Amino acid sequence: MSEKHIQREKATIAKMIRIYCHAKHGTKGKSLCAACKQLEEYTQLKTDNCVFGTLKPACSGCPIHCYSKENREKIKEVMKFSGWRMFFLAPRATILHFSNVFRTKKILKKKKVKDIIREVKQTKK
Ligand SMILES: [Zn+2]
Repeated sequence: MSEKHIQREKATIAKMIRIYCHAKHGTKGKSLCAACKQLEEYTQLKTDNCVFGTLKPACSGCPIHCYSKENREKIKEVMKFSGWRMFFLAPRATILHFSNVFRTKKILKKKKVKDIIREVKQTKK
């Protein structure tokens, strides 16, 4: 993914968390409850620090699960809940997100994770 893709992925995740929090925890507008705020910060940080760098796959298609078990369960629930709701609110972003998941799966079928990480490191030099 390019830098722009990463920004978009982060925005998509943030939006999904917001949809979830509004529906489940009764928050409104830009506010999130403390737990969801924490989850949002966590996902944004993880996205920035992804070992794949600009080749970052969509998290759901990623072979390296960098999330802690607890946060992985939480984000899974958020995705399950917000996935289709997201589609109606932001069809373009959702389609881009899922096309990214498929693209990632295709790349991962052809290349080994090890090799991808090596490539990323080389492009950083
Ligand atoms: Zn919440």
